Amino acid sequence: MPINYYEILNCHPSDTIEEIKKSYQALVLKHHPDKQNTTGDRNVLQLFYQIDEAWKMLRDPEQRKKYDAEMQQHRFNDEPIVYAKIYRKDFEFDADSQSNLYPCRCGGYFVLPDDCIESSDCDNGVADSSIDENCGENDEVYIECDECSFVVQLLRNQNTNR
Ligand SMILES: [Zn+2]
Repeated sequence: MPINYYEILNCHPSDTIEEIKKSYQALVLKHHPDKQNTTGDRNVLQLFYQIDEAWKMLRDPEQRKKYDAEMQQHRFNDEPIVYAKIYRKDFEFDADSQSNLYPCRCGGYFVLPDDCIESSDCDNGVADSSIDENCGENDEVYIECDECSFVVQLLRNQNTNR
């Protein structure tokens, strides 16, 4: 796993460059070695250099793009923490958000992607397998919690005999 520059800068991959810059400037002020009472503290210096390094990487749109892609790659290469293995029918439709939700223990929710909804209704024999292909029926589908880093694995519908 590469260093998470977003984490160091206290921001998110979806943040704009302005937001990241603001966060960086606040952190630099806070952690600048000149402002610390403990001169020469290695941890303080290290953190300061990390903040600086993170900003130098993310401020350049080209570098940031490359970095984002790399992070994405690693996210999928790493074994996700599978919180539960569930079926589409385990999701409950939430009228407020108009989406299918499965509760996470952190209080957040796993949201069933729209493109995975259709195939739960295709047991009538009319729908063909093309829908399932769109849903990644042949792949393992993982859904991330919207609050924490837990992941649920979406299993194929057991009751579907085709
Ligand atoms: Zn969660």
